[in-house]
Amino acid sequence: MSEETLVCPNCESSAHVVLANTGQKVGTAVGGTIGAAAGYTGASAGAAAGAAIGSVVPVVGTVVGAIGGSLVGAITGFFTGAAVGNQVGEHVDRHVICECRCNRCGAVFEI
Ligand SMILES: [Zn+2]
Repeated sequence: MSEETLVCPNCESSAHVVLANTGQKVGTAVGGTIGAAAGYTGASAGAAAGAAIGSVVPVVGTVVGAIGGSLVGAITGFFTGAAVGNQVGEHVDRHVICECRCNRCGAVFEI
């Protein structure tokens, strides 16, 4: 398994050691931003698809379809990006920042 055992250098216990969540939070924010950008791209694709589907009913259907398609694309892109960003952030936390905190003695240390 890839799970490392995190041991506090102060009290030599692993029971209360947790990863500091800085990277994960940053990752979520970054992911949300990337997701919004991806959603914008998705919105264009969604609008095209929606317009094509909506154009079964000429004019009105095309407009409504384009709006609906771009909304779905933007929302999907945002949440996908945020989820991916959270994963990336957790990865950064574990393997790049590697900052841990011990809830027993309050020590903050790097792996
Ligand atoms: Zn400790």
